Formats: sequence, structure tokens, C-alpha cells
Amino acid sequence: MSNTKYIFVTGGVTSSLGKGIIAASLAKLLQAQKYRVTIQKFDPYINVDPGTLNPYEHGECFVTDDGAETDLDLGHYERFLNVSTSQANNVTTGRVYQSVIDKERKGVFLGKTVQVVPHITNEIKERMCLLGESGDYDIVITEIGGTVGDIESLPYVEAVRQLIWELGDENAMVIHLTLVPYLSAAGELKTKPTQHSVKTLMESGVKANILVCRTEHEISDDIKRKLALFCNVKQEAVIESIDAETIYDVPLLMLDEGLDQVVLNMLKLESRASDLDQWKEFLRKHKNPKEQITIGLIGKYVELQDSYKSILESLIHSGAANEVKVKVESIHSEFLNAENVFEKLKNLDGVIVAPGFGGRGTEGKIDAVRYVRENNIPFLGICLGMQMAVIEHARNVMGLKDANSIEMDEHCTEPLISIMENQKTITDMGGTMRLGAWDCDLSEGSLAHKAYGKNTISERHRHRYEFNDQYRKEVEASGLKATGINPKTGLVEVVENPDHPWFVGVQYHPEYKSTVLNPHPLFVDFVQASLQYNHSK
Ligand code: GLN
Repeated sequence: MSNTKYIFVTGGVTSSLGKGIIAASLAKLLQAQKYRVTIQKFDPYINVDPGTLNPYEHGECFVTDDGAETDLDLGHYERFLNVSTSQANNVTTGRVYQSVIDKERKGVFLGKTVQVVPHITNEIKERMCLLGESGDYDIVITEIGGTVGDIESLPYVEAVRQLIWELGDENAMVIHLTLVPYLSAAGELKTKPTQHSVKTLMESGVKANILVCRTEHEISDDIKRKLALFCNVKQEAVIESIDAETIYDVPLLMLDEGLDQVVLNMLKLESRASDLDQWKEFLRKHKNPKEQITIGLIGKYVELQDSYKSILESLIHSGAANEVKVKVESIHSEFLNAENVFEKLKNLDGVIVAPGFGGRGTEGKIDAVRYVRENNIPFLGICLGMQMAVIEHARNVMGLKDANSIEMDEHCTEPLISIMENQKTITDMGGTMRLGAWDCDLSEGSLAHKAYGKNTISERHRHRYEFNDQYRKEVEASGLKATGINPKTGLVEVVENPDHPWFVGVQYHPEYKSTVLNPHPLFVDFVQASLQYNHSK
């Protein structure tokens, strides 16, 4: 067995406490001490992956280099750690069952009755140890989705119990994230919900080694003592996690609370010099902007923060890189039209037209593209946003009134955006898209080439439809240039309008690759162009 140490993060009391952020923050602190760390997430739902989940249900679907459609927490892991994740970093109950049932059909279990314990739990354990056994990591942090006590979480908690028993206390431990609510009528922080959730965990044979307590008010030493006593943990292992101004403060708050130190002590790992200089420099710039700009984000899920999580975070990274505060104004594409577009967009310094699926709100997106094109407002179209820019150009510059994507109008006579021949027979909804990292060659002299500073880039995709190559000549001749081409397939990945100060549409998702330490060059350039536009007004 390898020397990898395992940390499991469970959640109690309520969902949405931010297990992903705590896991990512701890990983950051351990990484800052030169430990090789990765994070994985186990989700208790039955979908095989979150790819088919509506963003209203589950927020954004994050895509990895290897084309896995994953939980948005993987985005946080990458943004905090600046390392890529993969399919192995996100496992769902659906995937676990699918694999066990496949094995059963193949006769792998030799006629045995296949059961939750041990077959499902064994499959979970194998997957929990997969990355650890690669030898690439000193520490693997595993976040268990859901809340302890949920029926569907039970096999995961049982797998954790077995693994801790097998690996030993020095090699595996549990951090339990809970809520310590403040009752304003009583003027007190209450520990009872935490006591109960620790007890629930104990009923499954799992002991929490560290409590991370989410709270709106400071937790006194007295309360920490009480929690330690009732929950069977050392007092220094009761960690306060107070509401932060930004998620990027959390690693430093956890550092102050000594979370990394307690973890290293428990796992019998040495404490090393820590380097968080770049992280702190990012925070300094983020918190001390010299100027402010307003970017419009046009999409159909704008009322939900989590739906465009990676775009919003990319704007934070690129804002800090430019030392400017980026205020994001969410604009609902469904309620946008040629009559109100001036009113809604007139104060913006830059516009992003968001990715999306289905026809709802697309006409509003096209009206928005027309407005920014005609008014020289910096524009970044992402995936569906790029497709809408192509359609807008075809309709309003080339005069092809029926131009559309066949996603919106199957029978349209000018299918500027269409489906690739070899995709036409696919009917399943899951995993039928162009997913994951693809290379793209950029034309010299283009805005994209200048922003990236290189000839070939690799970016992540998640879409079914493509720029229809049959129109490429006409589109380019009328002013919209294809400046990024997939060297393998010849597909158009980037379009630009050279008659406009900054007009770029990308078929891929740059937002998935922006991190704190590596703000995405296209976003950095877009924010800079928006700042220039702001100055010119
Ligand atoms: N719906 C479009 C397609 O499938 C765009 C997808 C997206 O924006 N991610 O091609």
C-alpha cells in the first residue's frame, strides 16, 4: 500500500455550508507546504454525472481536460490549487451502481448475491483510493456530498468507516463541517445541532477528528471547550469558520485557526515552511482595486449565482490581474429585445454572452450582440454566445434573415450553426457532446493570439453544435474572421471582428481554466479592453 494519507470531509446540520471551499482551502495550505495534494468529490445522487442536470438544480457543470462533466466544486479545487482534475476526481452513486451492475452482468461476482455491503461499498472504497494509489499524491482529500444522516449518504459513510479501520488512524481522518447557528432572540451561538450531527456520524461508526464550525459570529473558547467535550475531539481541533468577505480569504482564515497544523499532527506529517505569497498578492490586488468597470453577463440562468460560477470567478481573477473591480450586472436574455437593449446595455463597459442550451432567450442574446457590435462595446461570446455572434453576423451583416442554429430551428434554411455529420446518429442525452480539451491554432495578429501569446492553445469544450464550415468563406469575406481553428478537425473555434475594438467569440469554455495563480489570458485581455472602453466614454 502507498504512503498516501486520506482526509475525508463530511457535512452535518445543513447543506450549502461550503465543504468544497473548506476542502480546497485545506488543500491549498497543505500544497503551500509542498505536499502533493488532490481533492475528489463523491456525490450521492443517482445521475451518472451532473452533465444532464439542469443548472437550476445543481449549478454549473464543470468540465475537466479529459472531458468529464463534473460537479462545480471541482472548479473550486482547480482554481485554488492551480492543478487539473479528471474523471477520477468526481464519482456519483449512479456511476458506482452502473459499474457494479456491469460487473454483475459480466459474471464478475461468481454467482454471489450482490449487495450494498460489501459490493457497493467496495466499489466506493476502490474509487476513494484510486488517485492515492497512483503514487502522485501525498494527501488525498475526499469530500462526501450531502449531509450525514441522509439515507443516500450511508454507503459512503460506511466506506469511510471501513477505510479508516483498514488504513489506521495515522493514515486517514475525518473533518466534519457543521453549522453553529446564532439565535438572535437568545443572543447565543448554539452547539446542539453540531452535537447531534457528530452523534449521527458516530452511529455509523465514524468519529470526527476535526470539527470545522461555520458561524456568523466568533466562537468563544468556552464554546470550543464545550464542543470538544461533547463531540469527542481535542479543543485545538475545533476550528471556527466565520463568514468571509470572499471565498479566497478562507485559506488564510483556516491558517489562522491552525487547521493545517492540526491535520499534519494527526496524520504524523512534518510541518514545513509555507509559501502563500502569490495567493496573498492576488488578495491584495483583489481587495484594493484602482478602478471599477461594469460587465454585463447575458444569459438565461442569471438569477442563480452558481449557474455561471466559473465565469464569475474568472472575472474576479482577471479583475485582480488588472487591479480593477469588475462589477457584474446579470441581464436576463429572455427579457431582452431590440426595443429595450439600449436601455439595458447602455451603461456597460463590456458584455459577455453566456453559454447555454435550448432556444429560450437566444433572440435576446442576438439583440445584445448586435448592440455591442454596432456600438464598439467589448464583447466575449462563450460557446452558445459565440454561436449567437455568428448568427447575428449572418442575419444583420450578410442579410441571411433565416440564419440560425439547427438547435433552435431544425428546419432553418441557413444553418450557420449545425451538427457534425458523424454526430447525427446519436440520440442519448448523456455524453454525446464534444467534451474536454482540444487544441486550437490561432492566427497571428488576431486578438486571441495577442492575448494568449502563443500559436497553439488547448481549451475545454462542452457542446453539440458547431460553426457550419460551408458558410466560412462568406462569413469571413463579410468581416467576421475565423481566427482559431482546430488542427485535427478543421472546426472553427474562435471568431473575431477586426473592425471592432474587441469582439471575440469562442466555441470553447475559457472560464474552466482560469485560476487564482493563472488568470485566464482571454478574460484578462477582455477586462483590459473593457477598462479602455470605460476610459473612452
Ligand atoms: N447549445 C450549444 C451547443 O450544444 C452551446 C453549448 C454551450 O454553450 N455550452 O452547441
